[in-house]
Amino acid sequence: MELLTIGAFARAAKLTPRALRLYDETGLLPPAAVDPDSGYRFYEPGQVRQARLIADLRRIGMPLSDISAVAGQAPAEVAAAVEAYWRRETAQTTARARQVTLLLEDLSRRNPIMSEITIRSAARCETGEVRESNQDAAYADDRLLAVADGGGGPAGAQASAAAIDALKRLDLAGDTAAGLLTALASTVGELDQELRGTAITTLTAILRRGSQLALVHIGDTRVYLLRGGELSQLTHDHTWVQGQVDHGKLDPAAAITHPQRALLVRALGGPNPVEADLALRTALPGDRYLLCSDGLSAVVDRAALQAALTGPGAPGETVQRLVDLAVEAGAPDNIACVVADIAN
Ligand code: MN
Repeated sequence: MELLTIGAFARAAKLTPRALRLYDETGLLPPAAVDPDSGYRFYEPGQVRQARLIADLRRIGMPLSDISAVAGQAPAEVAAAVEAYWRRETAQTTARARQVTLLLEDLSRRNPIMSEITIRSAARCETGEVRESNQDAAYADDRLLAVADGGGGPAGAQASAAAIDALKRLDLAGDTAAGLLTALASTVGELDQELRGTAITTLTAILRRGSQLALVHIGDTRVYLLRGGELSQLTHDHTWVQGQVDHGKLDPAAAITHPQRALLVRALGGPNPVEADLALRTALPGDRYLLCSDGLSAVVDRAALQAALTGPGAPGETVQRLVDLAVEAGAPDNIACVVADIAN
């Protein structure tokens, strides 16, 4: 039989001489003969099929060690090995794809350019016309928007302030979305315990992390969202009258003037351990949020709220207009009010 030089064999097998030298060195495909003087390698024509199979297996990424294990075997066994190899690869790829998604999510959250929105906001807290003290609290910065309405005597003012302070102290930077809500739930639980027996307070707040907004809500303070000209109330009042309305026992219009309309069924520091309503939202440029206490929402109707919010003006002017509306309506209660504009 005529032996082929490495160059001729490489052409026949569509491989490079360099690849053939590697396959020789790793024991995958030893040449049929080696010239003892020159060191030249020679191959048998029958080795071409084997060389092509090795090349194909290399092309699909199979490691040399795996190829060695099957190189001399029958086609059915090679096929089984290829299938097993590919199952392993795709399983790893799927796992890595999941990791990639999580990593990209994490990077986009930490990268201000990718996830940054800005918040322009203003907060006001006014004592009502017929009130001697104010237990409401309002707070706004670019990370936290909050209103709280305290009750139960003078300690109510401390309770509403304490509730907002607890949220100011929360560091959410490293949290996942799920972690964010868990942190909020446990903060609220701790506050609730601390206040029990001393005072009660509502708490309605938005915490921002990147473009994600976490909503936490207990009581009858509210969040409204103005988006695309539509005003929607994002929170559900935890009041006795709202429960009656929900069960069809009270007309919504009658609830507005009901003597028990301020009776809370959920508040921080109340007789029973409280659970907050929690939600995650995405901030969109152009959105305008209103957070307020019942001192505004009980006396200024929805149409007037919407008109004030859609009107021109920065958050500071809008907050002033809303307070003015409550005062014009007699301001029987204290007024806490936050307006925040989302922009990019
Ligand atoms: Mn109030």
